Amino acid sequence: MSGSRFLRRSEIRENAPFSIVSELNLILLGPPGAGKGTQAERLVSDFDLPYYATGDILRQAVAEETELGKEAKAYMDKGELVPDDLICRVIMERIDSPGAEDGFLLDGFPRTVRQADTLEEALSGRDRKLTAVLLIEVDDDEVVKRISGRRVCVKNGHVYHVDYDPPKHEDVCDQDGSRLVQRDDDKPETVKKRLEVYHEQTKPLIDYYETRGLLRRFDGGRSPSEVHDHIRATLATLRLEEEL
Ligand SMILES: [Zn+2]
Repeated sequence: MSGSRFLRRSEIRENAPFSIVSELNLILLGPPGAGKGTQAERLVSDFDLPYYATGDILRQAVAEETELGKEAKAYMDKGELVPDDLICRVIMERIDSPGAEDGFLLDGFPRTVRQADTLEEALSGRDRKLTAVLLIEVDDDEVVKRISGRRVCVKNGHVYHVDYDPPKHEDVCDQDGSRLVQRDDDKPETVKKRLEVYHEQTKPLIDYYETRGLLRRFDGGRSPSEVHDHIRATLATLRLEEEL
């Protein structure tokens, strides 16, 4: 169990009616292959936060056939992008849920400055604000190396990496002997294109949050544990600063 869990609002009300303990409202940014998923898992378990990855949330809303989910599905069925405004409403529905009253961790949203503006307005309308935007930085070359080195077995989808986690025999799955292949998404040309899109979309967001003093940078070239320690230390410092 984590000893550093933030107090729930209800506990604060019971225990110390006049103290203010801030929420932990976080956004995770970083290129594909930066290990965001791993860091998210650890933050969720450290701080007992709900994790909202935009793609998952849209799929879930559609599957549960909520009103917003039905609206989103109409766009998806036509092969159109779900509009900003609708995505924002889906996200805010989550942020308004009881599970997120002490904070949340967003991944994949906002993607544009417009979405960031909408989120800021929506939060401030609820007397809430972002605590920090965590940017995990990894060099493009390293991202290409990490992703294009992945090999997947055709039978059961077991995942290997030619450098970091190689199979005993080249291109053969250790567990079931089936053939290992490189997914199209993992091919270097594809990864480079994804990175271009990522940088194009993310650069304005980085500037946006840097201007607001919310951006915190982490060296994603380090091991997952080192990155995690650094994030925890940063969040602890932010809390101290708020208490002063
Ligand atoms: Zn396999």
